[in-house]
Amino acid sequence: MSASIPSHLEEVRLRVIDRLAVLLESQTRTKIFGNNVAELIRTTHGEIVEELRQTLGNAQHAALVPALEETLRACDRLDQCLDLLFSERNRQWHRNGDYVQALLNEFNETFADLSTTLIEKDLLERQSRVLEQVILSHEHVTQWKDFVQEILLDFHAIFPFNFFYIAFAEEHGLSLYLYYLGNYAEEVKDSARHMLAQQMIGSLNLPGDTPLDMEEFVVKQNGLINHVDDIRMITVAVPEHTPKLAGLLGVAYASMNDLSTQEESIIRSILAVMVMVVGSSKALSRTLAELEYYSMHDPLTGLYNRRQFTNMLDYEIGRSERHNHEFSILLLDLDNFKDINDSYGHPTGDEALCGVAEVLREHVRKGDLASRIGGDEFAVILMETGRSGAATVAENIGMALRNKVFTAPDGKRFHLTVSIGIVTYPHDAQNVTDLMAGVDLAMYRAKELGKNGACTVEALGDEQIMANRSTRDYAEKLREALQDERIVPYFQSIIDCRSGAVFAYETLARMKELNGETVSAGLFVETIEKYGLGRDLDKAIIDKALLAKSKRMQDNQATTKIFINLSAQEIQGRGILGYAEELCSRLEIPPGCIVFEILERDAIGDMTNMRKFLTSLRNKGFAFALDDFGSGYNSFHYLRELHFEYVKIDGAFVRNILNSKVDFALVQNLSNLCQDIGILTVAEFVESEEIFDAIKGMGINYAQGFHISMPVREM
Ligand code: C2E
Ligand code: CA
Ligand code: CA
Repeated sequence: MSASIPSHLEEVRLRVIDRLAVLLESQTRTKIFGNNVAELIRTTHGEIVEELRQTLGNAQHAALVPALEETLRACDRLDQCLDLLFSERNRQWHRNGDYVQALLNEFNETFADLSTTLIEKDLLERQSRVLEQVILSHEHVTQWKDFVQEILLDFHAIFPFNFFYIAFAEEHGLSLYLYYLGNYAEEVKDSARHMLAQQMIGSLNLPGDTPLDMEEFVVKQNGLINHVDDIRMITVAVPEHTPKLAGLLGVAYASMNDLSTQEESIIRSILAVMVMVVGSSKALSRTLAELEYYSMHDPLTGLYNRRQFTNMLDYEIGRSERHNHEFSILLLDLDNFKDINDSYGHPTGDEALCGVAEVLREHVRKGDLASRIGGDEFAVILMETGRSGAATVAENIGMALRNKVFTAPDGKRFHLTVSIGIVTYPHDAQNVTDLMAGVDLAMYRAKELGKNGACTVEALGDEQIMANRSTRDYAEKLREALQDERIVPYFQSIIDCRSGAVFAYETLARMKELNGETVSAGLFVETIEKYGLGRDLDKAIIDKALLAKSKRMQDNQATTKIFINLSAQEIQGRGILGYAEELCSRLEIPPGCIVFEILERDAIGDMTNMRKFLTSLRNKGFAFALDDFGSGYNSFHYLRELHFEYVKIDGAFVRNILNSKVDFALVQNLSNLCQDIGILTVAEFVESEEIFDAIKGMGINYAQGFHISMPVREM
C-alpha cells in the first residue's frame, strides 16, 4: 500500500548522491595519494640523513664537519616543515570529507522528509476523497444503513479492507451491523461474526449473554473468498456525549501486510468521521422516530393526540361514506378535574389522567381510536358503532371510572367521574365541524344534567345544536342578550327539610331567545366565563333578583333568603361588593337575606384573597355558600378556613345516593362533618321523595331539586 515517490525526483536524488560520492571518493583518493607522497619523502629523507650521519662519523676533513652538521640541521627543519605541511593537509582533507559526508546526510534527510510529505499528501488526498462523499441529508439520516454502504464503497476503493462493522449497545441487546466488502464463504463470515460479536461485547463491557441482533450486508460482489487467516481490527468508539448511544465502529482486515502508523492513523481518522456520521444518523433517526410518534401521541398518556384524532375522524368519515358504515364519537370531560390538580398537585392530576387513559384502553375495541384532545378532555372514535353501541361503551367507561380508586400523595383515596357526549355518523351530523360541535354540546348537556353521565346528540334539540355551532358567535349572541336584558333570573326554591317551608330561592340565569324559547344557564355560563362576560351576568342577575326580592318584601316574605351564584370573574374583580351593598340599601333589603354561592373550584384557587374578599362582604352582613361541595373531596380545610355559612352538597352525588353506597356514604359523611363544624347543609338535585327522605334522615338541613320545585320565573 506504500505510496511511491515520483521518478524524476528519484533521479535527481540518485544524481546528487552520485556526485557527492564522486567528490567524497576523489577527496579520499587525494588524501591517500598525499599520504603516500609524504611517506616517500620521509623515507627518502631518512635515507639521506642516515647517509650524512655516516659521512660525518667517518669525516677525515675537519673542514667538512660544520657544513655537514649544517646540512643535517637543514634536513631536520625540512622534516619539521614536511610534518607541518602534511598535518595541515590532513586536517583539510578531514574537514572536506566530513563536510561532504554531512552534505550527503543532510541531502538524504531532506529527501526523506520530502518523500514523507509526499506520502502524507497522498494519504490525505485519499482521506479527503472518502470524506467528500460524506454528506448528511434527511434521507441519509433515515436510511443510514444504506448510506453507510455508499460511504464504504468509496472508503474501500481508497483504503481496501475486508469487513466493516458497527456495534451499538441498545436496550434490547447488542446490535451488530456487519458489512462484507467482498463475497466471502459462509465459514469466513461465520468466523468474522463470531469474532466481532465477542470483541464488541468485550469492548462495550456488556454481559456475555447479551442478546445479539445482527444485520449483514454484502457491499461488494467479486470472486468468492474461501479462506482468510487472522483477522485484524481497527475500532473507534462513538463519543460518549452522543445522546443515548453507546457503540463502536471499525474495519477489519483479513491477513494483510501491517499498516504503517501513518496509514493506521488516517484510517482511524476516517473511522472517527464515520462514527460521527453513523452515530448522529442513528441518534437523529431515533429522534425522528420519536418526533413522528409524538406528532401523533399525547406524551403523558400515550393515547393519540388531538391532531391524530382529527386526521382519523376525517379519514373515518370518508371510509364510512364509501362503505355505508356508521360510527360514533364519545367526547369525555372529567368532572371537576381542576379540583384534583388544585388539591393534590399536578403530579397526582397527571397520574389520574393516565388512569383515565387506562380505562379508555380497556374499553375500546381494536381499531377504535382513543385520544386525549385537551387537559382533561378525551375523545374516542368507535368504528362501525351505532347509537346504542356507543351508549353502552359510554356507560361502561363511566362505570369503570367511577369504580376506579385513585390515591393522593397523602394517602387519601379519591374518585373521578366523567361527563360524556355521544354523536353518531351519519345520523347526527356528516362532517367534522358538525360532529364535533354536536358532541361538544351533548357533553355540556351531560354536565348540565348533573355530570357523571352521558348524553347523545339525538337527545338535544336542533336549536341547541344550531346555537352552539360556533362559541364565538354564541358569545356575541350572549353579549346581545345581556345588553337587551334578555338574561334573567329564574328561582328555584330551597326548603327546610324539617318544616318543609321555603327557606330560600336560588337564582338561576336563563336566556330568553328572540323566538321566545328559554335557554338554561348550564348551556351558556361556560361561554360567558370564557369570553369575560361573567361580571355582566352577575350584575344583571343581582339587579333583577334584588328588584324581585324587594317586591316580595312587601308580601311578608322578608325572611326568605336569596342564593345568588357568583362568577369566578366577579370574585376576582370584587366590583360586586360596593354594588350589592348600595343596591341593598337603596331597595331596603337587609344584606342578611343575601347568600352568595361560590363554586368549590373557584374558592380554592386563591385562598388568601378569597379570605379577604369573604371577610369584607361578611362584615356588610352577606353570607356565603360553597357550591358543588364534595367534588374535590378534601375541601374541609378551606371550608373551615373560609367560614362558609352554607354548604351545597354536589347534586351529582345526591341524586345517586339510593343507587350507590359510595355516594350515600359520601353525602352522609359530608353532612356529619358540616354538622360537627357548625355549617348548614343544602342537598341539591333532590329528584324524588325517596331521596328527600334519605337526606332528611342524614340530618341535612335544606333541600333543593326538581322534586321540590323546578326553577321558575317568579319567586
Ligand atoms: P348550580 O349552581 O349547581 O345550579 C344547579 C343546576 O342544576 C341548575 O342548572 C339547575 O337548573 C339544575 N338543577 C336544579 N335541580 C336539579 C335536579 O333536581 N336535578 C338536576 N339534574 N338538575 C337540577 P342551570 O340553571 O342550567 O345552571 C347551571 C350552572 O350554571 C349552575 O350550577 C351555576 O353554576 C351556573 N349558573 C346559573 N345561574 C348563574 C348565574 O346567574 N351566575 C353565574 N355566575 N352562574 C350561574
Ligand atoms: Ca348554584
Ligand atoms: Ca350546585
